[in-house]
Amino acid sequence: MTEDELPRECRAENAIRVGQPPRNRAEAMRKLVWILPWLIFLGAPVRDLTSGGHPAAVTAAGWLALVTFTGVYLALVFRNMGRPFSGRSVAVLVVFLGTLAVVLSLTLGYAWIGLFVYVSVTCGATLPIRAAYWAIGLNSLAMVSVGLSESKFDWSLVLVVVLLGFAMTGVKQLVRTTIELRKARATVAQLAANEERLRLARDLHDLLGHSLSLITLKSELAGRMLPGRPDKAAQQVADIEQVSRQALVDVREAVTGYRRPRLSAELAGAQVALTAAGIAADVPDEPDLAGVPEESESALAWALREAVTNVVRHSGAGRCTVEVLQRQTLDGHMLELAVEDNGSGGTGKGPGNGLTGLTERLEKAGGTLEAGRTRSGFRLVARVPAGFSPAVGSGA
Ligand code: ADP
Ligand code: CA
Repeated sequence: MTEDELPRECRAENAIRVGQPPRNRAEAMRKLVWILPWLIFLGAPVRDLTSGGHPAAVTAAGWLALVTFTGVYLALVFRNMGRPFSGRSVAVLVVFLGTLAVVLSLTLGYAWIGLFVYVSVTCGATLPIRAAYWAIGLNSLAMVSVGLSESKFDWSLVLVVVLLGFAMTGVKQLVRTTIELRKARATVAQLAANEERLRLARDLHDLLGHSLSLITLKSELAGRMLPGRPDKAAQQVADIEQVSRQALVDVREAVTGYRRPRLSAELAGAQVALTAAGIAADVPDEPDLAGVPEESESALAWALREAVTNVVRHSGAGRCTVEVLQRQTLDGHMLELAVEDNGSGGTGKGPGNGLTGLTERLEKAGGTLEAGRTRSGFRLVARVPAGFSPAVGSGA
């Protein structure tokens, strides 16, 4: 199976997870493949050490310094994105790297000047933005001072040091934004769950508070009346029965309401599910459902759930658009849901259990379903009666 044929969710899983530490060895390897080519500037120091131009003791010290430098650099830049070191440790390590770069290029020669590139990248990737600007400037100055003593100093290296440093500050902002976005998404889900819990608590109180108080009151009354006036007590017991029956009906209705999927909740769920699968989602906010029968709304919510599941499971798409429109058709005023993706379009073998069940559900609500491949992917359109017809119809 090639990468292209993999289901979308697998490919999203395979992607580099920006700003997160690797979860397993494969992810660590993948990150490493991105990191290693950047060690190209270490080529000159390595060649310098292997050329045999230095005494053995100096070469050994050089190797030790180079390995230490590279280790500190890799730890700082790549660990810092997911599990950052403390500010103080970062500052100490950056100063250590800078000092090492100056000392090594002064003592071992011009071949080591490339180390300043790594110092600059580390500054950009790990320091707070203002400190990073200063540190990159200082590092460039240090490099120029060291390099000026060399007749063959390459000024374009200054540009590389400055530009890479500033580019890394941008990358750092990007990683931080991605992390914040991920946190915000989790918060939104948490808030939605809290809201639902509050609604449940409110409904429970309103539904049962009154009936249960009434039942308690009437039971007390019946108990007091029982010895002397059994006929009145019987009347109270009959009332208790009626109140508790009504309470039972109310609770059943409320529970059914909770089970009924709502379009607004499904739209929010669609956005989260598609994004989590690495599919760019264009999903509308809450549509205007005034006057739309509950049955129609539920049927459309089920249709959206199935459509999104199919996009995630079958399409391999990179983009998915969801639209909810009200239309005046020959069958009357309809609410229409369209889900379109730019994926494979499927095998063309026709509907399976999901789409067949959905057609039945929509037909029961007086609606219709069209689903099939398009030139650029798959499109599902579900229509349900929208109830009353507004004076000014939207769509055609
Ligand atoms: P199931 O999901 O159980 O296979 P469905 O009735 O939901 O059954 O879908 C039937 C078939 O239609 C799927 O197996 C798939 O081949 C195709 N299909 C449905 N939606 C899409 C889509 N968004 N992209 C590509 N193919 C799709
Ligand atoms: Ca399905």
